[in-house]
Amino acid sequence: IKNIAVLTSGGDAPGMNACIRAVVRTGVYYGKNMFGVIQGYQGLINNNIEAMNARSVSNIIHLGGTILKTARCLKFKEDAGMELAYQNLKAKGIDGLVVIGGDGTFTGAKRFAEKYDIKVIGVPGTIDNDLYGSDFTLGYDTAINTVIEAIDKIRDTADSHDRLFFIEVMGRDSGCIALRSAIASGAEAVLLPERETSLKELITKLKEGASTKKSSSIVIVSEGNKYGGAYDIAHAVKRKFKHYDTKVTILGHLQRGGSPSGFDRILGSRLGFAATKALIKGETLKMAGLHGNEIKLTNLADALNKNNYKLEDDLLEMTHVLSI
Ligand code: ATP
Repeated sequence: IKNIAVLTSGGDAPGMNACIRAVVRTGVYYGKNMFGVIQGYQGLINNNIEAMNARSVSNIIHLGGTILKTARCLKFKEDAGMELAYQNLKAKGIDGLVVIGGDGTFTGAKRFAEKYDIKVIGVPGTIDNDLYGSDFTLGYDTAINTVIEAIDKIRDTADSHDRLFFIEVMGRDSGCIALRSAIASGAEAVLLPERETSLKELITKLKEGASTKKSSSIVIVSEGNKYGGAYDIAHAVKRKFKHYDTKVTILGHLQRGGSPSGFDRILGSRLGFAATKALIKGETLKMAGLHGNEIKLTNLADALNKNNYKLEDDLLEMTHVLSI
């Protein structure tokens, strides 16, 4: 491996910049020529690939978002798009690629590395924490801290008015953000895409809370739960349970932004360092991930296998017990 490019793809996540910095500086340290691809796979197709050096990544470790920009790129799913991406990389002599993104990004990376003679290592960069092979994905810690801060503020007003708040958080397919932010904010209930909570169960829980003199209630709703959005579930509950004044807050894109937490800066640095060293060693089709306190490689195929990924049932049980 002589020339290595790095890109960010899919949704942006805090900590991506710390990771880009680590990839570029590790490559430079080991004598490689480094490149940054602007706008993910779209940038590969458009030949938007720039040389980078140690100074290109100065003063970015604390920044949210990604200096390389990101994009969702349908053309990369087509053979012709992939071929164009390959030709552009080949023309620059690039033989190694670090991709920072989520499961869509890895699906593309796997197809690409299987088809062409370019080695690819993935870094799990998504606020969703929904990949097997890393205890935590890059951006997740910052995102849940952002959510918790917002819920704390909402609780102040909920408490003052005896209100029932439904707070919708991100996670179309994964309830990780919802579950952990529910624990950390002391929410009364949480609705997740992975589990069926019936309306009856939810109302029973809220009624119990009301009868034991809870002055306010917070219900965290993951956007991918079976009832639809927080407004739908709030309407359904309101019809059957009139005790509270019901309000809805959708946190939306604020969950993606902000300066990365210390945890995400360190994780981004470690994953970027490990991914680049793995590429230099000749590894490919793998993802660098955190296991306990060690960074290990997992096959992209395993990281993408949805059967491998499991929501923590013990945490869900604990949320239920601690919210009596
Ligand atoms: P997030 O978890 O934040 O949404 P993601 O990586 O899953 O991140 P996606 O938009 O699903 O985000 O995927 C990113 C990009 O990966 C897509 O825009 C597309 O260019 C590429 N990609 C996704 N699926 C494939 C595929 N089957 N073949 C080739 N490329 C793909």
